[in-house]
Amino acid sequence: MNNTSSPAPIHIIGGGLAGSEAAWQIAERGVPVILHEMRGVRGTDAHKTDGLAELVCSNSFRSDDATSNAVGVLHAEMRLAGSLIMRSADANQVPAGGALAVDRDGFSVAVTAALESHPLITITREEVTGLPPEEWDQAIIATGPLTAPSLAAAIQARTGADSLAFFDAIAPIVHTASIDMEICWFQSRYDKVGPGGTGKDYINCPMDEAQYNAFIDALIAGDTTGFKEWEGTPYFDGCLPIEVMAERGRETLRHGPMKPMGLTNAHNPTVKAYAVVQLRQDNALGTLYNMVGFQTKLKYGAQAEIFRLIPGLENAEFARLGGLHRNTYINSPTLLDRSLTLKGRPGLRFAGQITGCEGYVESASIGLLAGRFAAAERLGETPSLPPETTAFGALLNHITGGHIVSDDEPGKRSFQPMNVNFGLFPPLEPGAVIRPEGLKRFRGNDKAIAKKHATAARALEDCTRWLSL
Ligand SMILES: Cc1cc2nc3c(=O)[nH]c(=O)nc-3n(C[C@H](O)[C@H](O)[C@H](O)COP(=O)(O)OP(=O)(O)OC[C@H]3O[C@@H](n4cnc5c(N)ncnc54)[C@H](O)[C@@H]3O)c2cc1C
Repeated sequence: MNNTSSPAPIHIIGGGLAGSEAAWQIAERGVPVILHEMRGVRGTDAHKTDGLAELVCSNSFRSDDATSNAVGVLHAEMRLAGSLIMRSADANQVPAGGALAVDRDGFSVAVTAALESHPLITITREEVTGLPPEEWDQAIIATGPLTAPSLAAAIQARTGADSLAFFDAIAPIVHTASIDMEICWFQSRYDKVGPGGTGKDYINCPMDEAQYNAFIDALIAGDTTGFKEWEGTPYFDGCLPIEVMAERGRETLRHGPMKPMGLTNAHNPTVKAYAVVQLRQDNALGTLYNMVGFQTKLKYGAQAEIFRLIPGLENAEFARLGGLHRNTYINSPTLLDRSLTLKGRPGLRFAGQITGCEGYVESASIGLLAGRFAAAERLGETPSLPPETTAFGALLNHITGGHIVSDDEPGKRSFQPMNVNFGLFPPLEPGAVIRPEGLKRFRGNDKAIAKKHATAARALEDCTRWLSL
């Protein structure tokens, strides 16, 4: 903190969902903010207005159910933390059933007006073309998935060529509890014990010849999304969509990501599988597994339908589906510390989608946290981290440490942007799930719902306690 009566300003680059929320949180703590937003001077390929916090696509903040939906819990936590984004969304709500959808123009106008009229916030319309200069001793980069090229190049030069992705090739991620282990089994190919491995690091789903052929037919016939013009990035080697591989030849997948070699079906050791789908642990908790090599641009509905043809995944619940789109994001688990600061550059934080969260609400929530952390530091306090049991903490943990970095595919980055979901939360304590009164049998769907309720209730209780500290 400086010696004058008013603290020195914190600079924020990018006035999107994350930057706007960060600015609000900082100013509300009595710290001045200078918000640098390039729209007005230079546009992006997706934004259409100069308004702050513009929603580039859908107008939905998804489920507002804070008892059994993880993004609903995040909404509730943000409201508890005095979020400007949530306040403006609530004030501009349009009917959408259980979802929180907004009038996009009214929402952006409300956010812009609140920031413009705040006495501690100055908004400058300019493109920041390099890393913040040293004299901006506290700064937040919140420039989003469409970060302007010169800043992206500067971030890459500072963090290393492999540390910035410009394109998402995303494989679906499955909730482990929804995988049928009576059909699947744990085994690494050739029982190889890699670094930190056990020889049983993958979940394997076996297919016979008829199942494989039916699966390939479904993949080829599946409905795919078209690339938008601005997404004209070519495929990377090793990141071909699975349906494109299937189109190249019926056997391609069986000799690629679905090869059965080095694997013995623990439930049926004498019968060799014709093909095998492998899933690899995705988070430290072991609650999520990703489908290895299954990046795809099939439409979401088609993905769920086709991937549930895979033996053992008939009832799979997907934490996220696959996708392929342009997205600038850093390799946060290795680059950022727990308070979102770039390692080796004190005072420089990242926030929003560029950190590897995904979605309007998630981006805004990481902006909220970065803003609170930066304001605390400016005021001479140690940033207080949210408990991992909260939606804030679960998401922060995914970005800064909970994700497992795969060692067995050198050169590939395994950290993928993700929406908030219950798979990111730590498991409940034994006995925390209570059988609802009057319910004789307590399993299956009833138990899953009760688990969500207990996880959500714990999150809100812990968030309230954290905010009162
Ligand atoms: C095409 C597209 C569609 C999407 N659709 C959805 C959807 O429907 N639902 C959903 O939940 N999520 C969606 N997302 C994902 C994501 O949630 C949003 O992109 C979200 O806006 C991210 O918030 P942010 O604050 O990180 O970035 P943004 O909201 O994009 O804000 C970043 C800001 O930084 C500015 N900026 C960039 N570079 C500079 C620079 N060098 N100097 C100054 N300013 C700069 C930009 O102009 C922008 O205003 C979509 C993403 C994209 C790219």
